[in-house]
Amino acid sequence: MIAMKTTANRTQSSSNYATKEFDLAARARALESILLEKKLVSSDAIERLISSYENDIGPMLGAKIVAKAWANPAFRKRMLENATAACRELDIGGMEGENMVALENTPTLHNVVVCTLCSCYPWPVLGLPPNWYKSPQYRSKIVIEPRKTLREDFGLNIGPEKEIKVWDSSAEIRYLVLPERPEGTEKMTEAQLASLVTRESMIGVGVVNPKKAKTKTRRRKR
Ligand code: FE
Repeated sequence: MIAMKTTANRTQSSSNYATKEFDLAARARALESILLEKKLVSSDAIERLISSYENDIGPMLGAKIVAKAWANPAFRKRMLENATAACRELDIGGMEGENMVALENTPTLHNVVVCTLCSCYPWPVLGLPPNWYKSPQYRSKIVIEPRKTLREDFGLNIGPEKEIKVWDSSAEIRYLVLPERPEGTEKMTEAQLASLVTRESMIGVGVVNPKKAKTKTRRRKR
């Protein structure tokens, strides 16, 4: 396995897209207000949905799947053949995850995911997309200059020995990256392995570094 330098951190990436994050949040709040005013949705329904995606559904489910794929070659094979069906084995699935595809990182290939049109994302395994994922800058830059964008915006240096493939999610297909299993984790349990896996590594803007403690996913402020 080729060791890659990774200093990816969400703080850096968030700051690069901060202005647009604010715009997106303002637009979402405006849309929410209109929907409530027209009684097309109730505030209770919105709160329930947000709560479930903040507390019950999120990157911890994707991390569990990645750890299982690392520890269990048969499951890994099923993930690569049909990720939606493999996730269902663990009772993981549902809205925005009807057709999920797993992309395996290897010593010669690094996968990264974007939605160039909007913000399509595999909700059942990663929860709600981070604001930077929805920003027009990320959606264009990662396609045009993926290596440079990963380095400059996420602190992730992908060596020249690795091809970078950028996958465009859509309403039909949602991608999940299976990051490389780090060296020195052979004796870890699935739970220990899962604790290493970050949301960023499953989008492809980070890699799994066993020396780094997992950072908590920031919750939406209401
Ligand atoms: Fe989209």
